[in-house]
Amino acid sequence: MVNKSDLCEFCEGGTEKKLIRARFRYKGQTIFINDVPAWVCTHCGEQYFDAPVYQCMEKIAKNRDNIQKTISFPLAEYDMVIS
Ligand SMILES: [Zn+2]
Repeated sequence: MVNKSDLCEFCEGGTEKKLIRARFRYKGQTIFINDVPAWVCTHCGEQYFDAPVYQCMEKIAKNRDNIQKTISFPLAEYDMVIS
């Protein structure tokens, strides 16, 4: 699973793919998204996201802006954009 380009940029530790609860900052807000596939450094815990995953989280954050007034629930599910 680990190749050279997947080394942690902070400590050069190896990374492994995991489903995590990601913290994502968007327009000055922080949201949490469950079950996001991420590369996590086994040494320092730094999280890395593939570009398509990052784009999905952006979509989720944008959706959250729209539904914020009716739903005050801080957690989003990663799979809400996959339908
Ligand atoms: Zn690291």
